[in-house]
Amino acid sequence: MQFKSTKNDRETVSFREAALRCLPDDGGLYAPASDMDLRHFLFYMDADTSFPELVAALAPLLLQDALTPHSAARIAESAFHFEPEFKPLDERFSLLNLYNGPSGVCKDFGIAFLAAVIEELLKSGGQAMIISASRGDTGISVASAFRGRRGIRPVILYPSGPIRGLDPGALASQGGPLIPLQVRGTFDDCQRLMAEIIRDRPFSNRYGITSANTINAGALLPQIFYYIYGFIKAKPCLNGDLLFSVPSGNFGNLIAGLYAWKSGMPVNGFVAAMNRNNPVGEYMRGRPFIPRVPAATVSPALDVGMPANYERLASFYQDAPVVMRNMVYPCAVDDALTLKTIEGVWKRYGLLIDPHTAVAFAAAERFSAQRDSAHLVILGTSHPAREANAIALATGQKIEIPPRFALLREKTDPLAVIDPELSALEGAIASCV
Ligand SMILES: *Cc1c(COP(=O)(O)O)cnc(C)c1O
Repeated sequence: MQFKSTKNDRETVSFREAALRCLPDDGGLYAPASDMDLRHFLFYMDADTSFPELVAALAPLLLQDALTPHSAARIAESAFHFEPEFKPLDERFSLLNLYNGPSGVCKDFGIAFLAAVIEELLKSGGQAMIISASRGDTGISVASAFRGRRGIRPVILYPSGPIRGLDPGALASQGGPLIPLQVRGTFDDCQRLMAEIIRDRPFSNRYGITSANTINAGALLPQIFYYIYGFIKAKPCLNGDLLFSVPSGNFGNLIAGLYAWKSGMPVNGFVAAMNRNNPVGEYMRGRPFIPRVPAATVSPALDVGMPANYERLASFYQDAPVVMRNMVYPCAVDDALTLKTIEGVWKRYGLLIDPHTAVAFAAAERFSAQRDSAHLVILGTSHPAREANAIALATGQKIEIPPRFALLREKTDPLAVIDPELSALEGAIASCV
């Protein structure tokens, strides 16, 4: 698959270049230059197709011109040691749980695939530094996905406040490859700095800097796999429309769903579920996009004021505003309704869901009240044990924390604390490496 900038249709780059350079120099983001046609594959897949089988079939298509079919198959095999879990609930709702990976968060999928790809791409030589903006979860994904992969240095940029859950053995201070840097600022500052350092080409070329966040098409595109998986599992229970309800912060998840639809996945729409930080909702209703300083909520991964994927979203809306308005339904859910939904889902289905999933669940319920023939697949994006406090508050249920999340209680010391400025970040990197 070839990629183009969201700001320029004329030049295209290979998957390799999109993954290793991360950002085009014109201020845009890489997006697919043409639609993949997955219909042929969808025809052969059914509810019995396993996730590894699905990835093995689709990965070579995605990586076509970057790698040989043989190495694409090797990536499909080595990337995932975890899978999505499809849970039908009733006629109206299913859950697609994406939290069985190392961090317990949906981002494990894109990052695990990207790590396997980058290792394969570097086999012909070279080195890479993977910078990620994180509040913690992405850091855990990155530490796990890049563990033991040669020639790759992961750097985590995180905002003021502690970061938890990083495996001490992975840290540079303990002889591992991982460099945690704390930024005196917000998560949005971390995202901005990451883009700035990549765009400083003399610097980023010297270190081979790219990102594991969804600004990297190489981390975004593999999220298509789980939508297709959700689709083939949901298909047998359908007798009306099918929609996905997607808890959205940086909108990587939603964009991946839109790419899956553009590639031929026959879905009727998406509910873009947001918490009270919803400037994108206004934009989707046709008003200008105005970034805002986000407020803190019980679903912190959705507290984003300037979504990293805004450029990709805007290019969808510019191409076909009317289609988009009939395809994506924005819905904002406040904390009170989020907690009430956790309680409601527990009482009705005996299931504990985390606040991010609950935002999507509440939005799906609101949509379903208006169109009761639709079936909604709700993305379960965070493991309930990661959010045990909110769940206890809403349901009175105490969650057993699985041993693999024990580290979530442990704070990690940064290797350096820096001002939210490019020169400070570059200075810190130059002195740690
Ligand atoms: C990142 C994340 C999301 C949202 O995905 P975006 O691609 O940022 O929209 C939802 N839930 C959780 C738990 C997340 O970590």
